[in-house]
Amino acid sequence: KKRNPHEKEFHQAVEEVATSVMPWYLEHDAYRKAEILERVTEPDRIIIFRVTWETDDGLVRANRAWRVQFNHALGPYKGGLRFAPTVTQSVLKFLGFEQIFKNSLTGLPMGGAKGGANFNPKGKSDREVMRFCQSMMTELHRHIGENTDVPAGDIGVGSREISYLFGQYMRLENLWSGAMTGKGKDYGGSAVRTEATGWGCVYFLEQMLHQRSDELANKRIAISGAGNVAIYAAEKALEKGAKVITLSDSDGTVEITEGLDQDQLQFIKDLKEKRRGRISEFATTYKGVKFHKDAAPWNIPCDIAMPCATQNELDAKDASTLVANGVMAVCEGANMPTTPEASDVFREHSIPHAPGKASNAGGVAVSGLEQSQNAMRISWSREEVDERLQKIMGAIHRRCVEHGTSGGKVNYADGANIAGFKKVADAMLSYGIV
Ligand code: NDP
Repeated sequence: KKRNPHEKEFHQAVEEVATSVMPWYLEHDAYRKAEILERVTEPDRIIIFRVTWETDDGLVRANRAWRVQFNHALGPYKGGLRFAPTVTQSVLKFLGFEQIFKNSLTGLPMGGAKGGANFNPKGKSDREVMRFCQSMMTELHRHIGENTDVPAGDIGVGSREISYLFGQYMRLENLWSGAMTGKGKDYGGSAVRTEATGWGCVYFLEQMLHQRSDELANKRIAISGAGNVAIYAAEKALEKGAKVITLSDSDGTVEITEGLDQDQLQFIKDLKEKRRGRISEFATTYKGVKFHKDAAPWNIPCDIAMPCATQNELDAKDASTLVANGVMAVCEGANMPTTPEASDVFREHSIPHAPGKASNAGGVAVSGLEQSQNAMRISWSREEVDERLQKIMGAIHRRCVEHGTSGGKVNYADGANIAGFKKVADAMLSYGIV
């Protein structure tokens, strides 16, 4: 904390991992002597740069951008780019740090990184977003590449932004390579990448329920967010016969008493992916849908909570309400959406709680598959990618159970942290003092 003052989110992420791995770490002298824990908390490098761009009205704007290349012990750096006014170095360091262990858990050869800018794409025209992306890539292209660092999307960076960024990368490098993932299907993108994080999260949730000899069908699921992760978590949950009873955005929550249906899901996709509209419009369009302004979904009684919006969106009070209302499992779609105090509440009540680094790893896993397809110049079918995704999520669940079970109970955070950390630690130890 002394070395990184004011980096609240980063401290939180490190503390969570360190708490899980400490007993194991202290038992293994070789790792301690090599200071693996201290070394893994220090990024390999952070690139910070100015992005200057022009509005449609001819005004000049300057934003700050970062790429945090955290650790490449297991493979080329890999992790998304986030565009939001709330982006800070602390947020990107926390995300990059988490990404190391998430990528390790997938079993694919990927290191951990994250990047982004304090740029708000909301309310900007397509041309403004394009000029911003081109200016950002004018610096970023020097630091990335298919064997070096492969960025993808995150909050505020969807297929539109990835296309503009990749277009500029190709122009500057005179090279088509898999230097970015999340690309459009027609130019090197993988089938199922758009759906992967949300679908993968539901596959993981299903395993959590099977672990307790239970099923997903007919469960009432409260989902937060209405972005890429939330929409496809809702889609897969519907397919599995569950009832999705909430979605949200930063304006508030919609409560769908009867459960979301296919027609409504299509409306949300159109609203959010094409029209970039607000979730409140969903409530004014359909009867039986209530809008709770400025509220999160956690007061609404549910069997399962899936926070899929952003970090620290579910606090101890929300957790206590969920427990009082009989929640059976919590499965994170977003990165670090529960505060440490909220996680304590779930642990005290023995509620199975999957951390994002395990349950939302499906997105980066399919990004890894996109890299493989690009390198081989082939393209797998939807069925093939989906099958691989399901296998990967099943394997991550098994790793969590293997490393996180004690007294017959699975602590998913411990399991994910220990399994993810151990592999990186072994690789770092083998490399010697680097
Ligand atoms: P999107 O930008 O597509 O959607 C984010 C959603 O969360 C929007 O509905 C947004 O509402 C809402 N949201 C954001 N900030 C807040 C806030 N402070 N309060 C309430 N709602 C908020 O992002 P993604 O769906 O891609 O990402 C969501 C989370 O999942 C992030 O934590 C991300 O890091 C994580 N993740 C994403 C992966 C991916 O493949 N996309 C992979 C793994 C993790 P509004 O539009 O009003 O801002």
